[in-house]
Amino acid sequence: MPASIIDGAAIAAELRDSLAREVAALAAEGVQPGLAAVLVGDDPGSVSYVAGKAKACAEIGVLSETFRLPAETAQAELVQRIAALNADGRFHAILQQLPLPPHIDERAVLDAIAPAKDVDGLHPTNLGRLLRGETGGPVPCTPQGVMHLLERSGVDPAGKHAVVVGRSTLVGRPLSVLLSNKAAGANATVTLCHTGTADLAVHTRAADILVVAAGRPGTVTAEMVKPGATVIDVGTNRIDDPSRKRGWRLVGDVDFAGVVEVAGRITKVPGGVGPMTIAMLLANTVRAAREARSRAGSARGARSGP
Ligand code: NAP
Repeated sequence: MPASIIDGAAIAAELRDSLAREVAALAAEGVQPGLAAVLVGDDPGSVSYVAGKAKACAEIGVLSETFRLPAETAQAELVQRIAALNADGRFHAILQQLPLPPHIDERAVLDAIAPAKDVDGLHPTNLGRLLRGETGGPVPCTPQGVMHLLERSGVDPAGKHAVVVGRSTLVGRPLSVLLSNKAAGANATVTLCHTGTADLAVHTRAADILVVAAGRPGTVTAEMVKPGATVIDVGTNRIDDPSRKRGWRLVGDVDFAGVVEVAGRITKVPGGVGPMTIAMLLANTVRAAREARSRAGSARGARSGP
């Protein structure tokens, strides 16, 4: 029997509805969550991602503004722009769209974002909190989205063997930490694979939960999957497709047609992890606004105290 489909689009839509209600409640208190997106250059993929994020913000009542800078922007100028956004009370969250042009040091730019406004959770302070198992700080959106998909599909990682393919700071590494946390909805035994892994299939075949974030179509095929496993495909790869008007289509890292016949549950590309990433970006923005309001409330309380 083919695997059941984990419908990321539907789960993300439910989450967006509940966030819209939270945004309305904040509006009643005079707070509108705000997201500033910074885009350097005109890479078509990045332009389209940022436009998608802005649309998602507008749909639930979150203020969003995109700051577009030319590809030749100096690093110091970009850092200054981030500093100005850190101080701008309209924005509770800042998104630096990646990748950056090669002359800019990505780490220096991410380090410049105030940790409380770091919507992607990539500031070292927030990654450090994640590593310490602290809850409440911003968690990178895609790994957080994967954890949410598992939870909403009734897949409890506790005691299971989770295998993550890919060790990027954006996806694989934080996900391996989240899955191995000693916490409800986690507590898995985790194997993290990468290009230095000697025999990838030995590990993927042992996985009860297999998450693939390699950025290579066909990284995982049917014979690499344990029957009944849960397979989450993070990959988003454009491949040529002359039958499409735009000349390409999106595929994941997993050979869906083969793996769907072996796995117990599986995500699709598109319509799996992608919508969850955007929903988590909104969730992190709303949470940042709520926390900024609490901090402002505590500061007022302290000033008017005894
Ligand atoms: P990345 O920075 O390029 O990292 C890819 C990782 O996969 C690296 O750790 C690499 O190993 C490993 N890898 C590559 N080929 C492999 C192979 N054949 N066997 C084992 N490991 C392999 O990519 P990323 O930013 O993590 O993104 C991964 C994929 O997810 C991309 O397709 C990206 O577009 C997609 N993505 C999707 C979303 C979404 O919302 N759906 C969000 C973020 C990313 P080494 O470290 O040894 O090089």
